[in-house]
Amino acid sequence: MTGRGQIPASKAKTADRNVFVSTLKNLERGISSALRNDPRYLDRFRNFESKLEPVFRKVISFAPEGELAELRAVREMFRGFDGLGDTEKAGVLSASAGRINAVLSKFKTEAAPAPAAGSPPALDSPVDRLRGVGPAFASFLAKKSVFTVRDALLYFPFRYEDRRNIKPVSQAEPNVWQTVRGRIDFAGRTRGGRGAQYRVTLKEGGGSLDLVWFHFDDRYMRGKYGTGKLVIVSGEVGVDPRRGTLQILHPAADRVEVLGREDEAEGSIHIDRIVPVYPLTEGLGQRRLRSVMKTVSEQTGLLDGIMPEGCADGLVPLPDAVAEMHFPDGAGGCPDFSRGAWEAGGRDRNLPAPRTVAFFEFLLLRLAIEMRKNTRSAAGGIEFGSDGGMCERFARATPFELTASQKDAVSLIRERMESPDRMNVLLQGDVGSGKTIVALQAIMKALDSGYQAALMAPTQVLAEQHARLIMRHTKGMGIKVAVLKGGDSGADFESAASGGAGIVVGTHALIYDRVKFKRLGLAVVDEQHKFGVAQREKLTSKGLSPDILVMTATPIPRSLAMTVYGDLEVVSIKGLPGGRKPVETSVTGKSPRDRRGMLDAIKSETEQGGQCYFICPLIDADSEGDEEVSGVFEAASDLRKDLPGARVSVLHGRMPPEEKDRVMNEFQNGSVDVLVSTTVVEVGVDVPNAALIVIDNADRFGISQLHQLRGRVGRGSRQSRCILLKSSGISDEGARRLDVLAETPDGFSIAETDLRMRGPGEFLGTKQSGAANFRFADLVMDSEVLSLAHNSAKEMLKNDPELKNSPVLKEMALEAAQPLEAVQPLETVQPFETAQPSIKSD
Ligand code: ADP
Ligand code: MG
Repeated sequence: MTGRGQIPASKAKTADRNVFVSTLKNLERGISSALRNDPRYLDRFRNFESKLEPVFRKVISFAPEGELAELRAVREMFRGFDGLGDTEKAGVLSASAGRINAVLSKFKTEAAPAPAAGSPPALDSPVDRLRGVGPAFASFLAKKSVFTVRDALLYFPFRYEDRRNIKPVSQAEPNVWQTVRGRIDFAGRTRGGRGAQYRVTLKEGGGSLDLVWFHFDDRYMRGKYGTGKLVIVSGEVGVDPRRGTLQILHPAADRVEVLGREDEAEGSIHIDRIVPVYPLTEGLGQRRLRSVMKTVSEQTGLLDGIMPEGCADGLVPLPDAVAEMHFPDGAGGCPDFSRGAWEAGGRDRNLPAPRTVAFFEFLLLRLAIEMRKNTRSAAGGIEFGSDGGMCERFARATPFELTASQKDAVSLIRERMESPDRMNVLLQGDVGSGKTIVALQAIMKALDSGYQAALMAPTQVLAEQHARLIMRHTKGMGIKVAVLKGGDSGADFESAASGGAGIVVGTHALIYDRVKFKRLGLAVVDEQHKFGVAQREKLTSKGLSPDILVMTATPIPRSLAMTVYGDLEVVSIKGLPGGRKPVETSVTGKSPRDRRGMLDAIKSETEQGGQCYFICPLIDADSEGDEEVSGVFEAASDLRKDLPGARVSVLHGRMPPEEKDRVMNEFQNGSVDVLVSTTVVEVGVDVPNAALIVIDNADRFGISQLHQLRGRVGRGSRQSRCILLKSSGISDEGARRLDVLAETPDGFSIAETDLRMRGPGEFLGTKQSGAANFRFADLVMDSEVLSLAHNSAKEMLKNDPELKNSPVLKEMALEAAQPLEAVQPLETVQPFETAQPSIKSD
């Protein structure tokens, strides 16, 4: 497979050659059909080795000279086949099928009537059109979503190994992580101090090193570690306490590579160079995959001209970049693109190849997002009229003056609503920055023009609060407000929403199919990160392309705003209204003394007439069997004991809705001193008289979430406090996160830090993380490149709005944006209990 030339036809007599090809095809068919069968039935192919043997003999006797070595090597792979485990069998089958196909493909003209044979592979050809990639390989690669040549070109190594100067085992040093090489001198089961073990002794340069496993599959080991083979292994070298010999215990599978004889040849891609290490799937060996990827990387020419050159500084042509990513020439040393290296100050990601590849990936996504934005605004939205009576009356009824930043937001939204383009705004502002009132102004504007408006909130508590607020602020204006909280309800459900109600507030019950609107002109989604794009779209599909306003108090780092939320125009409210002071935040442990301090804080707060939140991660302590974490009930009864006289109530998501409303109301009107709650109060709840929040086992939460919780206080004029109680088993990383939170009052920089510390997957939640899945690019490490790509995309679309001149680029861009369409809700909103819609009018 490694670069052997085509066989001149004259070398093999045509008759022999036909026999050879047809026998080889038979062999391949046998192996592939064995492979296609569920590995559990591989048993049916007992004695497979002996069945294949005559076929191999025949193939080899007719084989052209140039193929002999390869075919013998393939036959060699079946030695001991029948004794292997199923997984290993599948591995041998797929690898051998791939190699046989590679040989076959050289004889294609007469042999395979393969579809489109003869024409060179194109970018979107299936991978197995490539020489050396058989259907078996294709099916393994498919598990990694690699289907086409293009996918394969962009299937990058996750690390590299510098094998240019690998030390022989004789130079291995104890207690150091290193990579060494040696030839297998002995391999087999032995008895060690800890029972049975499998030992592979490597020798080279007069020294030796043992690889030792305590858990192993005998047959697999026997198949893999043949005496005389060259092994390259990385790991921490230790010393066997009894024998005094050097050893590596349980080297991880991706850190041991056993080379075949043919891999040792000069010019091999496996040794004496910088070697790529690819992510594997079951049944696919590193060495084989690397060979396939070598073949793939010879096709980089197909990428020629796809990405315009000169897009940005520090880039190289895409084909060169991709080739270098797969098989670095090593001029700049052994590259390390990992997060660890980056955090340690490594600049390898700035090298031209990775930079170009990251740029290209970002460019695709940015192009798709910009094109979508353009189509949407071209499709047109509602052209709302200028503000009328409702807006004015509402503004007059508002008990405070809007801050400058709020006013800016309102006027921008007003402008967008009046424009014929459809509005698509993400309003972000720190917790407590006063987004609600801005949204209500927009809602009034919709009503003024005779449209309905919907306001969707992630929890019932919040939906209720919004409804109450709206009714309070619109008293006497004749506006009907309907509240939908889900569950089964009567026919008036629909009529309510479709009929007279101008404002419909609700949980995600709003997007149920049976909810219909008559004239929905504006859809507002509060705390939108709690919903997915799909839910947002569902709500907006209920109107005739209503304008969209989504709000979030988990500020979105710029990189995510440009990718995952890239189709929204971001409007930010800066600062907090009314000269509010940042919440004083402290981190404490859980010793009895710490607890006394915490209780004193609650006491002094309630004695001053203030109120407190006490947040627990769980409802029931028992549910997770974690001794240290108490649930809301336990925490509440402890607090009642320690704080006699304090009125303590419990709130959690599994309470019936009326119960929840009752508790929230009591807390809101001051008849509860301490509200012990789960994170149901996390979002949006507004009780200005609460100035202290205690968060138990704070390290259980993400820092953005903690910041949200902390935002429940600091809403009144008094200095507010937040006490974070850390678990005793807190990790260093966890402790660091809490410190960051305590030191940073600003939600925007917290979000950036959170993204950096946890990565986009964790930050967004697993369900949304698909949207931030790049093959190589990384939102944190390559954020500078992202900005470049953003500018380039805009520039390119200016000249060619639909990318008519770059069809491949366009196709790839649309494909890259697909995960965004499929974004799922971040967190399942609690299931909804039955409730009747309540329609209140004034
Ligand atoms: P969030 O942005 O977190 O949703 P809210 O809209 O709930 O914040 O507002 C937080 C609190 O600040 C509410 O009590 C609200 O009435 C109050 N508020 C909002 N804007 C102003 C303002 N301009 N001046 C004084 N208080 C305000
Ligand atoms: Mg809010």
